[in-house]
Amino acid sequence: MNTDQAVRGLYQTMGIRPQVYDLGKEIEDRLKERFCELDQTAEYNQLKVLHAMQKNRVSEACFYPSTGYGYNDLGRDVLEQVYADTFHTEAALVRPQIACGTHALAVALFGNLRPGDELLSPVGRPYDTLEEVIGIRPQKGSLAEYGITYRQVELLEDGTFDLPAIAQALTPKTRLVTIQRSKGYQTRPSFSVAQIGELIAFIKERRPDVICMVDNCYGEFVDTIEPSDVGADLMVGSLIKNPGGGLAPIGGYIVGKKELVEQASYRMTSPGLGKEVGASLGVKQAFFQGFFLAPMVVKGALKGAIFAAGIYEALGYPVLPDSREPRQDIIQSITFGSPEKVVAFCKGIQAAAPVDSYVDPEPWEMPGYDSPVIMAAGAFVSGSSIELSADGPIRPPYAVYFQGGLTWEHAKMGILMSLEKLVQAGLVTL
Ligand SMILES: *Cc1c(COP(=O)(O)O)cnc(C)c1O
Repeated sequence: MNTDQAVRGLYQTMGIRPQVYDLGKEIEDRLKERFCELDQTAEYNQLKVLHAMQKNRVSEACFYPSTGYGYNDLGRDVLEQVYADTFHTEAALVRPQIACGTHALAVALFGNLRPGDELLSPVGRPYDTLEEVIGIRPQKGSLAEYGITYRQVELLEDGTFDLPAIAQALTPKTRLVTIQRSKGYQTRPSFSVAQIGELIAFIKERRPDVICMVDNCYGEFVDTIEPSDVGADLMVGSLIKNPGGGLAPIGGYIVGKKELVEQASYRMTSPGLGKEVGASLGVKQAFFQGFFLAPMVVKGALKGAIFAAGIYEALGYPVLPDSREPRQDIIQSITFGSPEKVVAFCKGIQAAAPVDSYVDPEPWEMPGYDSPVIMAAGAFVSGSSIELSADGPIRPPYAVYFQGGLTWEHAKMGILMSLEKLVQAGLVTL
């Protein structure tokens, strides 16, 4: 038996019917050229990380755990230098004490804003959880409670920047501009690094003293350049997304100008202590190794996203982005137009997971959401969205947001299983 037959046979054993497999094969063949481009980007990024690791003399001693205060934690400091060198910044904070992406963003904001300052988002509404950090939705301890005001400029109809309105919104009070690269779970396009660079240049031309921060969640290693290469003073993200490479069990990072990272460090721990404390416990090897693998993991996730777009656009569903557009993040949305299809898709993603594959997800009323949401996640790291995962709010237009996959092969299996479940439920005919 040749390998092709063996693969086909094992898919069938695992519940994928031949028609689903064949459609997948046809789409995959069509995407060969795009996949080649992704291989090249990943190769560049792999070298970029490796170069930073060699330059900083990463050694076995860097993996030894520290406890207590964590003074003189060699590996922690080397890791931060590896991040700083990879992203071409002066400094970095990369810590397990940063609980998640939202926390990292909050630390960067609180550390660098003072009462009387104004925060500006020139790209419309920020990610959901930041609304409470900023105080757009009133919340205890928000920036608003500390007398930090907020202003927002909406994007134009076509998803581009409203430059005249941004120029006007830059007042003497403006201290920090926050730019979210990924659309997250909104319908606007995600921004390319080049676009972000143009926006930062426009802002700096008018106000060179203003701090430009980029929320880089889901964007790391998608391109060969990052927002920190095009003028961002601060760049922030989560380690249970791209840069953790699926191995980091927790954490967030803040990279950028030395002084700004230092300000953030005084908020993360305490004024006076800053970066000097914070034991890394036993996570350093996972942080290093995850960062080392991240370019490859992101490549797999991107292939999965493009494959999903290819399959579902071939079946006539609106997909964003489509299978030909350049990618700025790892998120793929598919609009199904019916709640049953959203549920079947998510059940397929769950059934394809290495962990909890036998669990049958159902929509539920999640706190903070105005409609039931179905989530599919069978992850080694709880809540990790660099692992294969999907979310579908049960409300029109009945779209699912799909992301991750630690390997391309697994992402592919997940998409095929999602289609298999749609076919089984009689919702799609091939
Ligand atoms: C995920 C995400 C966040 C928040 O990260 P958490 O780890 O979920 O707190 C912020 N911004 C964007 C764009 C994200 O995708």
